[in-house]
Amino acid sequence: MLPPAKSARSPPRMSVPLLDLKKQYQPLAAEIIPILQGICASQQFILGPHVLEFEQAAASYGNCAHAVGVSSGTDALLLALMALGLGAGDEVITTPFTFFATAGTIARAGARPVFCDIDAGSFNIDPVAVREFLQQCCERRAGQLINRRSGARVRALMPVHLYGQCADMAGLLALAREFDLKVIEDAAQAIGADFDDGRRAGSMGDIGCLSFFPTKNLGAFGDAGMCTTQDAELAERMRVLRVHGGKPKYFHHLIGGNFRLDEIQAAVLAVKLRLLDGWTAARQRNAAWYAAAFERAGLNGRIRPPAASAGYRHTWNQYVIRAPQRDALKAFLGEQGVGSEIYYPVPLHRQQCFAYLGYGADEFPVADAAAREVLALPIFPELAHEQILYVVDRIAAFYG
Ligand SMILES: *Cc1c(COP(=O)(O)O)cnc(C)c1O
Repeated sequence: MLPPAKSARSPPRMSVPLLDLKKQYQPLAAEIIPILQGICASQQFILGPHVLEFEQAAASYGNCAHAVGVSSGTDALLLALMALGLGAGDEVITTPFTFFATAGTIARAGARPVFCDIDAGSFNIDPVAVREFLQQCCERRAGQLINRRSGARVRALMPVHLYGQCADMAGLLALAREFDLKVIEDAAQAIGADFDDGRRAGSMGDIGCLSFFPTKNLGAFGDAGMCTTQDAELAERMRVLRVHGGKPKYFHHLIGGNFRLDEIQAAVLAVKLRLLDGWTAARQRNAAWYAAAFERAGLNGRIRPPAASAGYRHTWNQYVIRAPQRDALKAFLGEQGVGSEIYYPVPLHRQQCFAYLGYGADEFPVADAAAREVLALPIFPELAHEQILYVVDRIAAFYG
């Protein structure tokens, strides 16, 4: 007897990219192109009516009183730091396990990033680690909170809502009140994420920062971002800083930057915002399909699939498993037609450019373990059920 055909033993090879933005664009093209043509005809490209309309829609979506459209998520973080007056001599507490911009903007503002380790389940900054730092490494001197190691003033917290799930804001906001710290939420990956009680990403701290980079859940046709706040004075300050601090134009009592949002991005984002909840629901359905398939395949002893924390609504910008032999698995999946990515391979305290902060290599063991084990799998809304089953089947084949 002949051995079974190869196709009988392994499922047909499929292509499952990590992200396919064309699938989202195609059904929207007929709506978006005439709007872009209108902008071309108007030749008004910067901070016009589309920006105003999108700011109002995004503020309302995020349960925020004010929204200020800016040029990128990175610029949103920088603008937030500038608006709160955080700079030389100040420290901002954040997570070492995030995209570079989080700590990069703190340093660019002239302040010092201070890292506290993450929670192993959510990958977000752990309020227990933050409290330990505040109580054991800081002291009050003349009404200011001073980090004994650096001598700098500890003034703010910058939690990141990683992968589309909020950080433990109840714990962090309690610390902010107790230690008199400002809070900037890096909600770049988490538009629409919230808690069961309805508090939304970007609405809870002093300022929330969103990114509309094309791979985020709400993606522009280029770079764009947003600052949100409940505070009218802060909103006004950010609007002035967005245009180099000039008010009226050419009269500067503040030094700002060019953080302007353009009409094309705002118009595209306004169209897409109306569809965001549907896409989020599809990402949540995909996450549930993965969870069921991992369970059926008996893989939960080998890999650790992600789970939303109780009381949190995850929006799944990324679906990130923990996997032994992660790099070999990633290579194998690539050969099988499955895209995956490592967010993030090097925690920020180990980055060469932050060597001056003086952290020991082993100071943040939870972040280090995450960097060794995490692998993001395809989760975008347009994925088919068979594609998810194929990804899980190939993971099962790897550990076979
Ligand atoms: C994407 C991202 C940013 C930066 O946003 P850009 O729009 O790319 O500048 C900042 N922080 C986090 C956590 C991000 O994922």
